[in-house]
Amino acid sequence: MYEDKIRKIAWDLLEKGNVDFIIGWEKGSLPFLTAPLICRDVAETERLVWNPFCANNLARYLKYYKGGKEKIALCVKGCDARAVSVLLREEQIERERLVLIGLPCHGLINPKKLLENFPDITPGEVEWEEGILRIRGKEENIVHLLEGSCTRCRYPDPPIHDFLVGEKLGEGYAESSEVEDMLEYYDKMSTEEREEFFAREMERCIRCYACRNACPLCYCQECFAESTRPSWVSPAPLAFDNLLFQLGRTMHMAGRCVECGACGRSCPVEIPIDILPEKVAESIRKEFGFESGLDTGETAPLLTYREDDQEDFIK
Ligand code: SF4
Ligand code: SF4
Ligand code: SF4
Repeated sequence: MYEDKIRKIAWDLLEKGNVDFIIGWEKGSLPFLTAPLICRDVAETERLVWNPFCANNLARYLKYYKGGKEKIALCVKGCDARAVSVLLREEQIERERLVLIGLPCHGLINPKKLLENFPDITPGEVEWEEGILRIRGKEENIVHLLEGSCTRCRYPDPPIHDFLVGEKLGEGYAESSEVEDMLEYYDKMSTEEREEFFAREMERCIRCYACRNACPLCYCQECFAESTRPSWVSPAPLAFDNLLFQLGRTMHMAGRCVECGACGRSCPVEIPIDILPEKVAESIRKEFGFESGLDTGETAPLLTYREDDQEDFIK
């Protein structure tokens, strides 16, 4: 089982003193959820899990070790590894301090969809082994249970890794005719409908910043939304300021977002906020042929300029 392989790699790394700690996932305190786990002791590696509920993008935790000396092993799905790649590009962590345990990823199951499709299901009735999902003993197709960002996934295999647990999967679900891409649904809205949609959603936002805090690439020491000198955004969760915060965050993500969907999944009031940065990522892919996190040496559009640019505004 892949889980056993992860535990063995983690055990060996700690036992040989090759790393100071491992960051992975463990069983959560609620059904169909996992929680991040930091193992510093070999005995703790037994708690590591790997299943379609390992939703946290663990690259998020690297910011706490910036400038330190610890050597860190990190479990990475495709999108987590892409986020690490961006952090390396942005010099937030050194490659030699990382050991990446790569996990080709079959996608995350949305717990709400699972419960809608299988009411009263209990964790004991869901089995996951090497990409095969069995519910109440019957093999099921994961596709209709996927998180939105996973339906758009193009890179399920970690582009950078030191260990690879399992076989590479190659393609994600992005080109699959079986999945409905939620971004297409928003594309079909008129400008007015979109305006109404976001105005409604921003009324519900409580500005808890969970979306920002879950994002592996939001690492500013002082977020513009909380700055008081100057103050850009009211600290009160007013709809207009909520929108201003989200638009500012989306622009900060342009050319950087790795489309992991962690921001959307973290929202306590279920605002699908990941569609904003993911839509910008899609535009950048189409307009510039650029995808973030695939190559650490890459220069992202919107994060660079050329003096001989043919557009006048640059001069
Ligand atoms: S976006 Fe891709 S790599 Fe990331 S969790 Fe979803 S399927 Fe896995
Ligand atoms: S997580 Fe949701 S409620 Fe919290 S700030 Fe983000 S969009 Fe608003
Ligand atoms: S903005 Fe959202 S989707 Fe993009 S990298 Fe951050 S958490 Fe992932």
